[in-house]
Amino acid sequence: MGNKARTVGFQPGERNVFFHVLTACNLACSHCYINPDQHGTTRISRQDMIAWLELFHDTGKKTNVIFLGGEPTLHPDLVYGIVKAKDLGFTVTVDSNGYLFHDFLERVRPDQLDYLSFSLDGPDSGVNDPIRGEGVFEICTQNMRKAIRLGFHVSVIYTVSSRNIDHLERMIPLLTGIGVKRFFIQVIGLRGKSAVSDGSQGGRAEREPLQVSRKRWLSLVPAVAARAAEEGIHVTYPKVFLDEEEKFQCAGLVAENYFIFPNGRVYRCPLCEDHPLNAQCIDGGRLTACSGLTEADFFRLTIPEGCVMNKLLQPDTISYDRLGQAEFRISCCLLKQEISGKR
Ligand code: SF4
Ligand code: SF4
Repeated sequence: MGNKARTVGFQPGERNVFFHVLTACNLACSHCYINPDQHGTTRISRQDMIAWLELFHDTGKKTNVIFLGGEPTLHPDLVYGIVKAKDLGFTVTVDSNGYLFHDFLERVRPDQLDYLSFSLDGPDSGVNDPIRGEGVFEICTQNMRKAIRLGFHVSVIYTVSSRNIDHLERMIPLLTGIGVKRFFIQVIGLRGKSAVSDGSQGGRAEREPLQVSRKRWLSLVPAVAARAAEEGIHVTYPKVFLDEEEKFQCAGLVAENYFIFPNGRVYRCPLCEDHPLNAQCIDGGRLTACSGLTEADFFRLTIPEGCVMNKLLQPDTISYDRLGQAEFRISCCLLKQEISGKR
């Protein structure tokens, strides 16, 4: 038997900076969460990239910077930002769709980048490409292999939806074959494009819901994670449903996560990103609190269903018994479980 998954509690003294350096992308994934109406269409200037990284520099805290987009490697100054983030002592990750523009692997060294993450939503082109685009599987896996050959720490992010959950297990031989040691399983969120459509043509009635049921998630994801761990892969996946004895905690109150967009919006909760509810913004080079109703006003609300934003934005993810009591609580979307193998 392998190890048991453990819940990764929020770490005091640690901050995660999810830095969207631009919103442009060469792909058009059906579940893309980027929302140009809210996040703009600009890319951050080199000068602001450095200034904004410095804003989050605090020698008393362990800071993880995750460069995202859109596709972050489309930004010509990404490598410059990576080097600066490393100089500031941050742990640095780049989340890419696998295309690695601007000769990325030739311009950055493995010792300058802690993790290079590739998004892949299927174990073969037949599953991945209808979701992420024609030919994407081939390019993404080719670049993964190349990055591993060059000595980068490569991880893979798989966004589970009804379109690919049944193929999750087949990711294990793919990852072990390529040599990927870290696997992040995400759950589709009702944000951006996925909030309005699954990307298919046709009316609402013809569209298959993208979200998976609690039963399907719990019957498949933890078991696949455990099997991947037995193959020596470190797997992280969202908790989603709290166990009865587990305490609910909102990361907006107990953790330091910043989701930064090129238009200066800074969110503390990713579920709020489709709305002008950001608690903070970067204005004139300073991080300032926003006035009016913001996400911070919701973090303090206590409800039996757990996460208040989930209840507001995705009420159909919760079910109730005959007495109207919530049958389970939804955890903070940032609460993770992880499991590692023995190899
Ligand atoms: S790669 Fe990411 S940013 Fe680009 S379309 Fe897909 S989900 Fe959106
Ligand atoms: S997902 Fe819910 S619990 Fe987590 S930060 Fe947002 S509002 Fe708080």
